Amino acid sequence: MYLLRHALNRRFSSLRSTGHNIRPKNCHRRFKFAAFSAISGSLGALTYLLYNQYSSLGNNELSQGHFTSYRISNKHIIDENHFLMELTPLIDQKINLWKLLGSEKMWSVQVKQPQIMVVRNYTPLPLIFNKATGAIELLKDGQFAGGKLLFYLKSYEHGEVARWLQQMQENEIVELRGPYIEYELPKLERESKRSRDFLLTAIDEEIQEEKYKFQPFDIAMYTAGTGIVTALQLMLTESPFRGTIDLFHSCKDFTELGPLMPLILKLERYKRLRLHLFESSHEPSRELRLTRMLKETSTPFPYQGSVVFREMTYNNVRPVLALVCGPDSFISSIASPKLSPYQGPVGGILEKKGWTSDNLFKLS
Ligand SMILES: Cc1cc2nc3c(=O)[nH]c(=O)nc-3n(C[C@H](O)[C@H](O)[C@H](O)COP(=O)(O)OP(=O)(O)OC[C@H]3O[C@@H](n4cnc5c(N)ncnc54)[C@H](O)[C@@H]3O)c2cc1C
Repeated sequence: MYLLRHALNRRFSSLRSTGHNIRPKNCHRRFKFAAFSAISGSLGALTYLLYNQYSSLGNNELSQGHFTSYRISNKHIIDENHFLMELTPLIDQKINLWKLLGSEKMWSVQVKQPQIMVVRNYTPLPLIFNKATGAIELLKDGQFAGGKLLFYLKSYEHGEVARWLQQMQENEIVELRGPYIEYELPKLERESKRSRDFLLTAIDEEIQEEKYKFQPFDIAMYTAGTGIVTALQLMLTESPFRGTIDLFHSCKDFTELGPLMPLILKLERYKRLRLHLFESSHEPSRELRLTRMLKETSTPFPYQGSVVFREMTYNNVRPVLALVCGPDSFISSIASPKLSPYQGPVGGILEKKGWTSDNLFKLS
């Protein structure tokens, strides 16, 4: 108020002092009062509206500042350690986080284990369960199902939170906070929207040639176990990221991905990703797996950024960034240990292929 009054006073006093005062004095005072009242009134209304909107959003919307309650609305057991879990907020969300965060931001939420008061991060996917068919379905553009989130989870024998989640039943309540952004890809503002329609149909359609405005941003991604969800989030989100993922996925067996498997294979058929699979059940020697990974790993390419895209002149993936996501031992073999909160040195397979701290990032 003081600043507003001060500003009005300054404005009127400057008019007075420069001789631009065109009204008689009491008329001027009435005008000053009316202007002041009108502006104060508008500001008051705006503040009220914002407060109203904020307070009604504030309590129920997912936020880093407080926990929001979600009901386990569906659970799909894949095997004794892997499962999918769909969470539905008790009160519908107003904000479409998929739209807000886009495909440039890799994000997670934290789930609270109330007995031991610890939180763990989990990466949501834009998928929901179809109650009638039991199948998982992709959220269409603009849809966010009132804020439902679907997670791919693994429980560990000595793990506290994932094991607790695995034992929980449908309709039980868990508390979430977030979102937390793990990494952000560069955004080319005027890049065209990329379609995901092929993921919404059961039949394979003809593959359309990719049309970008600028050069595609290909990524090499090294994931282990549930780390693959980070790559899936990028590729399944509305207007998916603009490039191809050279995906090196390590797991015990590909089948542990359950209903996510056909989605991944479809993404590969439509050249959204190139899959290099390393299954310890089929290729037991760790040494041999790492040797093959080294052989199949690309060297980094320079990013052409805003150079206008004309047509795909090459067949290969040309990664400009490498992301590594998995347990510590996995990150160490691929790129040397991550010394959280720092990135640590660059080593392992990626260093041998010429990747450096300029184009490599180890996710947590
Ligand atoms: C940003 C981010 C996103 C994540 N997203 C997901 C996700 O979508 N799905 C998911 O399942 N997990 C995800 N995680 C991992 C998750 O946060 C937990 O670390 C995991 O569920 C284990 O927690 P816990 O409390 O059960 O086990 P903890 O009590 O933390 O660990 C106990 C023991 O379990 C074993 N263990 C724990 N984690 C691993 C591992 N990764 N590999 C091998 N052994 C392990 C070890 O023996 C460890 O000593 C994510 C982590 C981060 C940081």
